[in-house]
Amino acid sequence: MNITTLRIAGHFVRARWRWAHLHGAALQRYQERRARRIVEYARAHSPFYRAHWAGHDPQNWRALPMVDKQLMMANFDGFNTRGLSRAAALDVALRAERERDFQPTLAGLTIGLSSGTSGHRGLFLAAPHEQAAWAGTILARTIHTLRRRLRVAFFLRSNSNLYERVGGRLVQFRYFDLMLPLADAVAQLNTFQPNVLIGPPSLLGFLANSVARGELHIRPERLISVAEVLETHDRAQISAAFGASVEQIYQCTEGLLAVSCAAGSLHIQEDIVALQLEPLPDDPTRMLPIITDLWRTTQPIIRYRLNDVLQIDPRPCDCGSNFRVIRVIEGRSDDVCYFEAHAGGERPFFPDTIRRMILLANAQILDYQAVQERCGQLGIHLSIPDGAAFDAISLDVRASVMATVAQYACRPPRVTIEQGIIPAVPGAKRRRVQRLG
Ligand SMILES: [Zn+2]
Repeated sequence: MNITTLRIAGHFVRARWRWAHLHGAALQRYQERRARRIVEYARAHSPFYRAHWAGHDPQNWRALPMVDKQLMMANFDGFNTRGLSRAAALDVALRAERERDFQPTLAGLTIGLSSGTSGHRGLFLAAPHEQAAWAGTILARTIHTLRRRLRVAFFLRSNSNLYERVGGRLVQFRYFDLMLPLADAVAQLNTFQPNVLIGPPSLLGFLANSVARGELHIRPERLISVAEVLETHDRAQISAAFGASVEQIYQCTEGLLAVSCAAGSLHIQEDIVALQLEPLPDDPTRMLPIITDLWRTTQPIIRYRLNDVLQIDPRPCDCGSNFRVIRVIEGRSDDVCYFEAHAGGERPFFPDTIRRMILLANAQILDYQAVQERCGQLGIHLSIPDGAAFDAISLDVRASVMATVAQYACRPPRVTIEQGIIPAVPGAKRRRVQRLG
């Protein structure tokens, strides 16, 4: 075994041990110890955090000033502990995105570009040992039983380096590009015969329809939904088509936040992230998560606020773990849009693709919405900083949309781009990518 495999195996074993043994006061002590260590490390090696925390007691880490994606990106060079510049990292990441090279590295670190669901784009760095930790932990938390070799089919928008390392003797991973035409995906899945199928719920829904039509003949024992929120009615439809339950991984590039247990509850990964929850002023049952990653040192994530809204289930889970359970994640359920294929018919574009073609077009975009009224049309609303040149940003977005749609052999869409986000209707679910009618 090489060093990476050994590291992954080590993290796998330790993550399983912690899941079984860390409860109550022991878990609190564990979180406290790791958090203090990370804070100490960040204070020593990250000029940004050192300045950001000036005048605060680092021992009292739960009360340190917060950060978010905007602040992180604005201070990227001093935020990371390796002194890498945002310009250099972004250059590598964007070139990789354009050339569909999934191994972008700089100074030995993997670079990831996230469009995220929070409306801003972000840049993430991971050292090889951090990738090994992630891979070992995610395997430990998603493989509930180890009876035999697993064949895992993983649908991703692009096959990033961060995911590539997970393969090994125990598990055979196969990656599928999210934009692979459905007929090809169905044919390849019929050959591969996965026991585990992982992908965004919108994609799983398409595959469920293929099963119902008698085209897709696979019997995965487990289905795992990632990257978008799993809605109750989608879960029921997918589960019925495959005759298996649908589980979830809730993770973003900021960290691995929650994973479904064997009993189907979405548990916060309390030994990986310390999640503080801030109730919304007008509704204390809905909360914003503030993440402190207990492991990452290259780009420390400490008191980092996400835009997702969570509801917690106070009931204990049947599986026996007392890691807290998330009942609902709001704010990440976007719609699939359609464009006209040159070959005829409509081609689905998943929310992640829409998100990236808008957000990655220009660094000044703060937030966006995309509304589709009919196939082949797209209305885009952009939030940009005061004083930013809307015309130039708008041109970049239009070019990016045209290039992406053309890349997937579809006719040029009719695109309108406006400045300003449509205000949310109180109580209504916020969708960034929305399909009307
Ligand atoms: Zn459980």
